[in-house]
Parts: sequence; C-alpha cells; structure tokens
Amino acid sequence: MAGVPMDQRDGWIWMDGALVPWKDAKVHVLTHGLHYASAVFEGERAYGGEVFKLREHTNRLIASAKWLDFTIPYSADEIDDATRQVLAANNLTDAYLRPIAWRGSEEISVPALNNSVHLAISAWVWPSYYSLADKLKGIRMTWAQWKRPSPETIPSAAKASGLYMICTLSKHAAMNAGFADALMLDYRGFVAEATSANVFFVKGNEVHTPLPDCFLNGITRLTVIDLARARGYKVVERHIRPEELAGFDECFLTGSAAEITPVSEIGEYRFTPGSACETLIGAFADAVQPKRAAAE
Ligand code: PMP
Repeated sequence: MAGVPMDQRDGWIWMDGALVPWKDAKVHVLTHGLHYASAVFEGERAYGGEVFKLREHTNRLIASAKWLDFTIPYSADEIDDATRQVLAANNLTDAYLRPIAWRGSEEISVPALNNSVHLAISAWVWPSYYSLADKLKGIRMTWAQWKRPSPETIPSAAKASGLYMICTLSKHAAMNAGFADALMLDYRGFVAEATSANVFFVKGNEVHTPLPDCFLNGITRLTVIDLARARGYKVVERHIRPEELAGFDECFLTGSAAEITPVSEIGEYRFTPGSACETLIGAFADAVQPKRAAAE
C-alpha cells in the first residue's frame, strides 16, 4: 500500500464505538483537537496477532488524556477490546496501530469544557524487518535545533500531539540535510531523545540512558532496560551531557515504531553497533513474539 494516502485506504477503523469503513473515519474542520492540539495518541505494534504491551499503551493513552484535562469515555478493557477488533477486522497479525483521542467540535475557542471526547483506532501494515546486517550499519543522526521543554512548560509526560510540533521541525531539518533523525537536548542542555524514540549508549558492560524527567518514558525503553539487566548489563539512568557521547562505543534508539535501531553517528560523534545492539535486538525479537521464540 506504499504511496496510498492515509485517508484513501481500504479497511476498517474503530471510531467512537463502532468499526467504520476506513474512508468514512472523518472529523470536521472546526474540531478542537485540530485547532488547539487537544489530542493524545499511541503508537503500538502487533506481532503474530498480539499487540505488544497493549495494556501499558492503553493506560498511557488514558493518562495522557488526563494530563490534557479530558477523560476518554471508554475503560481500558473496552479500549483493548476495540484494538483487537481493529486487528481482526483488517485481517492483520503484524501491524502498527494508532489510537487517538481528541476533543470534538461543539465549541471552538480555547476553553473546551463542553466539548465531547472522541476515540479512534486504526491499524496498518508497517514492516520492521530489515536484516540484522542492515540494522547494524546504524543510522546517521544530527543534532536538533529544538529542545525538549521543561515539565513546567508543558505536560511532557503525556503522549500529546502538541509535543510533536518540534519533533516534526527537527526531523525535517535532519532529513533535508541527509540524516535519518535528530537528537534533541532538553531545556537544560542534557541529552534527551530522538524525535520519536528514546536513546541509549553503551560502554563495555554498561548501558546509559537519559533520565526521562522531561520526555516520554517509553514502553520500549522500559522493556529494553529489563532485557539488558537480565542479560547482565549494568543499566544507568542519569543526566548525560552531549560531550560525554565521545566516551561510548554503541548507541541505539528504542520505540514502538523504531523497535531497537542502532545509530552510527550523532553530529561529531561516531558509534560502531556491536554485540550490545545485536544481543538486545535478539532479546527484543523474542520478547515481542514469545510464541515464535518458544517454537524456535
Ligand atoms: N519519545 C517520543 C517522542 C516518541 O514519540 C516515542 C514513541 N512513542 C518514544 C519516545 C518511545 O516510546 P515507546 O517506546 O513507548 O513507543
């Protein structure tokens, strides 16, 4: 389906309680979520028919809405059930899923106390299978010109649409300069994250990753920390200054879409994806597909 616009595909989208034909899943131009970014979303992946860490994603979606002062009118059980319906209706087993909740169109000014809250869940095929050799070449990154803001400036723990404005700007600048992604610093100048993934650095047996005190504490991040500890790595969560990158051998990104993506370059710093990247990519593949791992 590459190249087919996202609003022109075939299939089913769950919207406000029912599966609707893909092309009919629309909102009005006077929607609060569109004008004022009163929207929160998730990015999930299904492997072998099961959404990895579905309940964690659903709970984060509900919590993100709370940060934006609205309540999704469905329980976690109902959202999980709707997510599974979307996979089944579209005959998908390995897919990317995108739940989104937003404020509706009853009133269109800053306050939205009387606006309804909506939820839609879509899913589509988004392959993640690069060969290990290709993955281990690593991606080239540059520095972002935008910084992750202070939690006093914006609800930075929420996966909220408004927080992505500077991610899109940073990603565009990186891509236009021939890089795959940009690494963002935070408002204090510490290393924060990529535009849609967390970042890890490796030196010998130690894995270091920034403290998520002003950006998303990714579900993949938490998974990879557990996997690394279980494999004997010492995992250190701390504030990392950009110049410290000179002291690390390996670097990788983590995210539901990115999975584990090795990095070969960030600005002036070079990394050689090696045994840590390889070990954790293997461990992650087994974690997301426990049935397949057990059969092998
Ligand atoms: N940071 C940002 C800005 C992201 O968009 C994502 C992807 N959701 C992540 C980190 C990683 O989060 P997760 O592992 O939960 O997908």
